[in-house]
Amino acid sequence: MSNEAKSYKGLGTKFIHAGVEPDPSTGAIMTPVYQTSTYVQSAPDTHKGYDYSRAGNPTRTALENACAQIENGKYGLAFSSGVSATDAVIRLLNPGDEVIASNDMYGGTYRLFSKLFEKFGIKFLYINQQDIKNVSDAITSNTKLIWIETPTNPLMNIVDIAAVTQLAKQHKLLVCVDNTFASPYLQNPLDLGADIVMHSSTKYLGGHSDVVQGCLVMNDKQLRDDLYFIQKSSGAVPGPQDCFLVLRGIKTLHVRMQRHCENGEKIAKYLRIHPKVAKVYWPGFEDHPNHAIAKKQMRGFGGMISFELKDESAAELKRVVTSTKIIALAESLGGVESLINHPATMTHASIPKEERIKNGLKDSLIRLSIGIEDADDLIEDLSQAIG
Ligand SMILES: *Cc1c(COP(=O)(O)O)cnc(C)c1O
Repeated sequence: MSNEAKSYKGLGTKFIHAGVEPDPSTGAIMTPVYQTSTYVQSAPDTHKGYDYSRAGNPTRTALENACAQIENGKYGLAFSSGVSATDAVIRLLNPGDEVIASNDMYGGTYRLFSKLFEKFGIKFLYINQQDIKNVSDAITSNTKLIWIETPTNPLMNIVDIAAVTQLAKQHKLLVCVDNTFASPYLQNPLDLGADIVMHSSTKYLGGHSDVVQGCLVMNDKQLRDDLYFIQKSSGAVPGPQDCFLVLRGIKTLHVRMQRHCENGEKIAKYLRIHPKVAKVYWPGFEDHPNHAIAKKQMRGFGGMISFELKDESAAELKRVVTSTKIIALAESLGGVESLINHPATMTHASIPKEERIKNGLKDSLIRLSIGIEDADDLIEDLSQAIG
């Protein structure tokens, strides 16, 4: 199957056609689920491009090509989860190497770095990357990688990707951007100079809360070969059925994201004037500290919103998050249905409390993943829950 980008004018056309060619044996317009572990060879080492499904599978190839194209990259690699994609990137490093990470990022990324990789002698610095001077100050002769997540989870801060990649190039450092929150509809880090884009495809790419998966996209052939070697050797590959689901999800990414953005804006504005709400974190507000950068590097502001109640008691927080009727209390994000989450005890529970508080993640913070339902219904639901 070819990985040649067709000529597209619009993002929608790209998302619908990326990676998918009619099936060569039948003409099926949708790439079939090649539910097979192995492939018959006509002679030893003579095969049709596939020898074993850990190393490659046609459904996965279609998805990997799609991921590459939607991120304006040359190469895509799919993994069995977002964290296994992150894990593959860190496996590029050696003991003694240093990574500049963020003090406001997905809790599972922090857990992977601090609990699994630190003991092998890789050092991680968790800093506030919104100020480029902090990033610059953290670089040492051992620094190899800058890990960016923007918008950050859950405080919705924005990191200037182009500024960081410019700095990284001067020091010959790799930059990997976790683009899960923005999705390729809103932001393309490779175009801003990043070396690798990572996604938890579980979220907006899949979009229907029915699959766990991750991917990496890059332009450099050597980087691709090194990451492919890691993918094949450590084996965290997704099955073909899951690849099919993400391929299907990508086809509607643009229409879903348009609605996520519209609903996100309506709900952020609704919460901001609610008398019981103390603060709303959403990069679309003009007075958001990084609004200008968000406007520069993103095509919209998305459907992820965090907020704090004026009443900071644990009882009030619990009452609100258990009172929504349409919006479900659950981890994860990016699906068609809206979710409410309490980061301190759910998604970010693996970050030590002192560390969390120091970085501005209060116990009273509530995170919303706004889905694509009718905004009026979501507002009514929040209204009866907050009271
Ligand atoms: C969910 C998530 C991950 C981890 O992905 P999984 O698919 O759950 O392994 C990484 N980064 C961000 C921003 C996420 O939201």
